[in-house]
Amino acid sequence: MGGSRRLVSTLDYHEAFKYLVKHLGVMVMNKTDEEWKKQLDPQKYRVLRKKATEPAFTGKYLHNKERGVYVCGACGAELFSSDTKYDSGSGWPSFWTALAKDNIVEVPDHALGMERTEILCKNCGSHLGHVFDDGPQPTGLRYCVNSLSLDFKKKDAK
Ligand code: FE
Repeated sequence: MGGSRRLVSTLDYHEAFKYLVKHLGVMVMNKTDEEWKKQLDPQKYRVLRKKATEPAFTGKYLHNKERGVYVCGACGAELFSSDTKYDSGSGWPSFWTALAKDNIVEVPDHALGMERTEILCKNCGSHLGHVFDDGPQPTGLRYCVNSLSLDFKKKDAK
């Protein structure tokens, strides 16, 4: 499992870098740092645009059990479904898959002396969190996401 995951990740990294290089001027730099700073409240700005991590067990969506869609807190792209949210015990909202994998970019993150895989919103380049290999089946993945990186759109009761 670990081996195949590594292979997929390597390909994802390649795609991610191609994407970032190709779109750096188009999407990611579409808004200037000043514009993001104006648009986002300071806490969200620090996480989404400066890759800060909210303290564990403090996020507003950690225990959210409502049905709906989690969207990028910066641009509103649909990222995760409540159907794949689970309690990982990590202190951050966790999902075993992305709603639309195409909406997320994975990049290697060597910060803090750790080998991790950062996840970014593909549409706007904002920081979401990290993805790990210790999630539940069927994917074995844990998308570990800051609440501050997300907004929640509750599904209308029918
Ligand atoms: Fe976004």
